Amino acid sequence: MANRISILMYHQVGEFRPMKKHRAGYCDHRRFATQMAYLGSFGYRVLDLDRVLTCLRGDLPIPPRAVALTFDDGYADFIRYALPVLQRHGFPATVYAVSGLVGQRAEWLREDPKRVIPELMSAAQLREIQSSGIRIGSHTASHPRLAGMSRDRQTRELSESKATLEDLLGERVEHLCYPYGSFDLDAVRAGAEAGYVSATTCLRGPAEPSDHPLALPRKAISFGDNLIGYFWKLAVKNRPKPRLIQWRQRLADESSC
Ligand SMILES: [Zn+2]
Repeated sequence: MANRISILMYHQVGEFRPMKKHRAGYCDHRRFATQMAYLGSFGYRVLDLDRVLTCLRGDLPIPPRAVALTFDDGYADFIRYALPVLQRHGFPATVYAVSGLVGQRAEWLREDPKRVIPELMSAAQLREIQSSGIRIGSHTASHPRLAGMSRDRQTRELSESKATLEDLLGERVEHLCYPYGSFDLDAVRAGAEAGYVSATTCLRGPAEPSDHPLALPRKAISFGDNLIGYFWKLAVKNRPKPRLIQWRQRLADESSC
């Protein structure tokens, strides 16, 4: 029986000129369509995050070729380029929105003056994708690096964004994604206290039953991934990176205290 789930991390899906840096932030929409068709044709089971948690807890078996789709930041282009493809295949997905920047731009990307600063979805657009079956998760209030931040500020970022998005969407927001993959033990605790049931990271590897639900690893899909690279990440590249192994140990120690 399968014992792992590939949670895929996408950022922007759209039309881009080839780039050298930040390639994990972009996916060409034609490649995205091919990747989704590949999942559909080769019997991959695309699960929503609630189902991922149910399977990781052992309440349901993990199906073979289990995959989940996540999209960080809530880029407005998602509606044009990713949503129709997901709908065509009937695939569930989660979009992580930054509650303090709804309807604005991805201000945090200004750290790099050469980057294009894309638009983020408005409240109406988030509701539109929600009504199309996309799940909205939180990507905090202001997209900060949570690791090393005071516990109070972590709590504010996580609780405020949850409350704001829940008001805006009229449904519970229970899935979290740490911006930049930056988190520490306090952030995990703050996330649990705020009421999140899952949190995804940028730790690289497949999710397994031993994973802490608030520190789930993912596989980043990059601009450079052609179908061979995609297959490689899904089916072959399953060895956890050292940092993931360290975090699994640290969180297992924490849970057993
Ligand atoms: Zn982000």
